[in-house]
Amino acid sequence: MRIPLDLQSAVPLYRQIECYLRQNILSGDLLPETRLPSTRQLAESLGISRITVTNAYAELESNGLIYSQEGSGTYVMAPVSPSLPLEDEADISWPLWQQDVHVSEKLSQSVYPVQLSQRASHPDPISFTGVGDPRQFPLKDFYKAIQTVIQRDGITALDYGPFDEGYRPLRETISHILASQGIRANPDNTLITSGSQQALALVCQLLLKPGDAILVEKPSYNFALALFKALNLKIIGVPVDAWGMQVEHVETLLQQHHPKLLYTIPNFQNPTGMCLSGARRRELVVLANRYNVPILEDDFAGDLRYEGRAQPAIKALDLNGSVIYVGTFSKMLMPGLRVGFLVADGPIFGQLVDYKRVNDLTTSTLIQRGLDEYVTVGRYQAHLRRSCRIYRKRRDAMILAINRYLPPDVQVNPPQGGLFVWLRLPENISSLKLLPVAAEQGVEFAQGGIFFLNCSEGEAYARLNFATQTPEDIEQGIQRLGRALRRLMMAP
Ligand code: PMP
Repeated sequence: MRIPLDLQSAVPLYRQIECYLRQNILSGDLLPETRLPSTRQLAESLGISRITVTNAYAELESNGLIYSQEGSGTYVMAPVSPSLPLEDEADISWPLWQQDVHVSEKLSQSVYPVQLSQRASHPDPISFTGVGDPRQFPLKDFYKAIQTVIQRDGITALDYGPFDEGYRPLRETISHILASQGIRANPDNTLITSGSQQALALVCQLLLKPGDAILVEKPSYNFALALFKALNLKIIGVPVDAWGMQVEHVETLLQQHHPKLLYTIPNFQNPTGMCLSGARRRELVVLANRYNVPILEDDFAGDLRYEGRAQPAIKALDLNGSVIYVGTFSKMLMPGLRVGFLVADGPIFGQLVDYKRVNDLTTSTLIQRGLDEYVTVGRYQAHLRRSCRIYRKRRDAMILAINRYLPPDVQVNPPQGGLFVWLRLPENISSLKLLPVAAEQGVEFAQGGIFFLNCSEGEAYARLNFATQTPEDIEQGIQRLGRALRRLMMAP
């Protein structure tokens, strides 16, 4: 029997033999009742020790895939059920090289707002996870826009389009929208990306290499943290308060860690909902220049302001190309469009365009054209006003319900906009433990740990999205959360 063994692999030899035989048995290539070579024969033919083969056989036997008969030999077992075992066995039947791929930490564990196993334990759960409200999406208008594009542009709308910065008219529209926020963007320094998540990834790919340090708010957006982890960056957290990142800590951290990038979500931060004060924005730009560090400004929901004075974008304070600005249509319109954008100045812009091209060639031409047809500046502003009106009511409903139904020692800082409310739970209540009790009561939220590098630091927090639910469901959901909290607090 020729079993391919990789002597250089970190996977032990007995495991390689076991995997090979398992795959062949499960795929049916080794038929039931096939006699396997004796451990001595196989060890000799592979040039390895007999104990290695014995261990592999023992493992297969304990899994019910083979059996041995005294004095006769070792045989492939007939399957108990015709279906292949899934779950537990799945990883074992993958090729060996896959087992050699080492990720420092399972990324999926650190990014999901609700543990998937805790879903659906209630017939009618109310979810405070997610982003905007899909019911606000102008479905009919968008449908018409796509129809118009196909009639107008024909097959061109379904082609790749040029592999460049993106559909020019859409970039022009974006520049106009940004100009109204004081950002000097123009189509030639605006790149369309597949969601702003891709923009974050492109900037990291271009500017950072494994082991480089990146400064981020602590806590921060879970999928950005996951991206930074996946790229093996050294993530340095800067604490936040009600005015955003505590910039007074930044200079020391710059001196200590020499980060290659500073990532910030200055408006209605994910997850805390807080905004970076004007003074701190200015300070950050000064520090970025003094220490020669670029700033990645993630303005994922800056338009969704319900009250208070808007601060200038950090990009608007940038005079020399230190700031890369990232925005998205996901929160204002629909995340499924997957259209985001970045604005960058200087030679870096062309390099980002190159990186975009090698990542996915281009963002869907049809969607870019459809979006441009739909989003005139006036329409965008009208849609924005409407969304803000609706979301403000929901934010108010949530704050009211929190004050009414949650224990008084739950702390919350009402956000002036955005999508999220960040709760500090009563002492000794862990959001991880709250999650299953809340699911039982019929309410879901994002547990605080996923927004921290070290999950245990976020156990005292929960992030609630108020934008996706109606005020009635918000009240009901918070009532359920209150019940779950009290139940947990009363538990011995
Ligand atoms: N930045 C932040 C802060 C986010 O919360 C999200 C998504 N929720 C993104 C970026 C990415 O969004 P998208 O790729 O849909 O634009």
